[in-house]
Amino acid sequence: AQDEMARLDRLNLVGQLAAGIGHEIRNPLTTIRGYLQLIGIKPDYAILKPTFDLMISEVDRANSIITEFLSLAQTKKSELKQQNLNDILDQLYPLLEADAFSQNKQIRFTLGEIFDLELNAKEITQLILNLTRNGLEAMAERGCLTIESYLQDDKVVLAIEDEGCGIPPENNQKLGTPFFTTKDTGTGLGLATCYKIVEAHGAKICVNSSSRGTTFYIYFPIPDQAKEKHQMIA
Ligand code: ADP
Ligand code: MG
Repeated sequence: AQDEMARLDRLNLVGQLAAGIGHEIRNPLTTIRGYLQLIGIKPDYAILKPTFDLMISEVDRANSIITEFLSLAQTKKSELKQQNLNDILDQLYPLLEADAFSQNKQIRFTLGEIFDLELNAKEITQLILNLTRNGLEAMAERGCLTIESYLQDDKVVLAIEDEGCGIPPENNQKLGTPFFTTKDTGTGLGLATCYKIVEAHGAKICVNSSSRGTTFYIYFPIPDQAKEKHQMIA
């Protein structure tokens, strides 16, 4: 009976995912169809250029939804390499700063002394980008996004804190579910990807939210080798 339950759960999940991606891809297709129809009725040059630009951006959107979805569906094991989280953060700083600056918001880095971790740099970059973008999007205007790294007990912590609208408690359960979004043009794939990346690193993710803002915490295990290198264990 338990096997049957698991099978039904899986079918249910597959159905939900299929419905989600179907819906997400149909929206841009509908828009593109509308523009093509418009061009058919009124093929004058003045409307062509902006219409093509809009169609291209809709195709790009459909494409990026598929890319995100495929990376979420991929089952290949992540290749991890011993490196420092702060190095990845440092490399991202200019991009994040430009992102925040263009929206009139601030970004602050507080990087502590931490141990090397077993990381996949590409995935960790994606994780930081997804959480940062959500944080910036949650802040209607101004506001500061703080990114911290520090040691806590036997973990390295990455904390991403915003001064945004917060997450209502009733949505807590839905976080990380593919296609869950409260945004008009959201895909609801960002957090699902983050949860997958966190799991692939043997890490844990926690969220703390109020009406004054949200903090996502990622707790990374420290590999024994890294501890030995720093003589933390004899
Ligand atoms: P998307 O950003 O496309 O909506 P995500 O998976 O990144 O999809 O996020 C899912 C939902 O979780 C968002 O629509 C939002 O409701 C909520 N959320 C995630 N991060 C935050 C945050 N920092 N502040 C407020 N809400 C958030
Ligand atoms: Mg997002």
